[in-house]
Amino acid sequence: YLISFEGVDGAGKSSHIARVKTHLEQLGYECLQTREPGGTPVGESIRDLVLHHDMDINTELLLMYAARRQHMVQTIQPALDRGVWVITDRFEDSSFAYQAGAGGASWEACQQLSKWALNGFEPTLTFLFDLPIAVSQARIQGRAGDGDKFEAKPGNYFEAVRAGFIKRAQLNPRRIRVIDAQPSEAEVGEAVLLELDKFMRT
Ligand code: C5P
Repeated sequence: YLISFEGVDGAGKSSHIARVKTHLEQLGYECLQTREPGGTPVGESIRDLVLHHDMDINTELLLMYAARRQHMVQTIQPALDRGVWVITDRFEDSSFAYQAGAGGASWEACQQLSKWALNGFEPTLTFLFDLPIAVSQARIQGRAGDGDKFEAKPGNYFEAVRAGFIKRAQLNPRRIRVIDAQPSEAEVGEAVLLELDKFMRT
């Protein structure tokens, strides 16, 4: 299975990714943790390009899908074929939220690219960590950061990212489980494991 974790910066994805991985491994499943943009040498190079250079939003969208296709072909699909669970920090819902929702690329262009580059390939399950932007921004304050260009975006940019994610969740209610990311890390972690458990029973 492919599980993706999505949400605005500061939603707390990273700690829950680690928790889910440990949980699955304790159950005896082999897991591969990966991320987007990235997950392959080509993808990591694209990540470096996109995160540190200002560029036309459609160029950025194309690069994201180039990285994503390579990620699918080189890393994710081979692992799935071996029966490994793949856990990815972001997948294409992030393009709908960041490049389309907030960045100004068209939602339809994103859908077309998705069809062309991924041909219907999608995560089996997605956790979307949702919270008010004031809270996520407060969490990011004081974090070291890696100086990427997205860190300096204004609050209303992230409001648009959040709205893009919510729209994706409404369009894909079966795949995307929206997790309220506002409570304590422990409470959010419990909510995630509960949803994972539900998923594994079906
Ligand atoms: O998830 P992570 O914080 O590592 O992502 C790095 C940055 O790339 C984030 O700040 C996010 O805003 C941005 N990003 C993006 N579009 C994507 C994926 C990530 O703008 N499709």
